[in-house]
Amino acid sequence: MYVKPIRNIVILTGAGVSAESGIDTFRSEGGLWEQHRVEDVATPEAFARDPDLVLRFYDMRREAIQTKQPNAAHEALARLDREWPGGLLIVTQNVDDLHERAGSSRILHMHGEHLLAWCTACDMRSPWTATLIERPPCPACGESALRPDVVWFGEMPYRMDEITAALRGCDLFVSIGTSGAVYPAAGFVRQARDLGARTLELNLEPSKGSAWFNESRFGPATKVVTGWVEELLNR
Ligand SMILES: [Zn+2]
Repeated sequence: MYVKPIRNIVILTGAGVSAESGIDTFRSEGGLWEQHRVEDVATPEAFARDPDLVLRFYDMRREAIQTKQPNAAHEALARLDREWPGGLLIVTQNVDDLHERAGSSRILHMHGEHLLAWCTACDMRSPWTATLIERPPCPACGESALRPDVVWFGEMPYRMDEITAALRGCDLFVSIGTSGAVYPAAGFVRQARDLGARTLELNLEPSKGSAWFNESRFGPATKVVTGWVEELLNR
């Protein structure tokens, strides 16, 4: 069988890539935070109803990720980003900055970033490592209207046009450490496949979308991702 040579790669990453760095996923926490369902603090409705609760939740998470370090999976992907001569885009659902700290640059955060604050008065995004609970002024306009720059349940993910264009042009689509449960990301494999790309899943266990992939490899990200990158660069 003729296999199209791989030039352009799109990699979707999810919580499974950061798990071994000690970053909890919503689901791994048992779903509760201070008696609230985690999903209930990550919505625009929750922010409207109880902004202190939501800001405190994100202040804690923003503080926590700054104590974590990239793992071997982030580092392998950063190496691929540096050494891959063709097109490459890492689309991450993660809101931590571990891909960047490992050295990746061809990356897009479809669900926003913990280390940015978004001003709902002037629409500016500002780098942010401190807390938001005390309603600090926006560095751009001075209004106290900052919120976490994280896409909440019910909000539209960022940069979908760029993602769709990259999926159209890719020869290989790789999904790493995602449950395959959250749309629109869960639909990327089908889009890529319909357009003729090969599809590969690297995950701890078979995901809900496993049947859509040409190939699946299961195991911890630090093992399966490093192995795959090594293999791809040494073909
Ligand atoms: Zn502002």
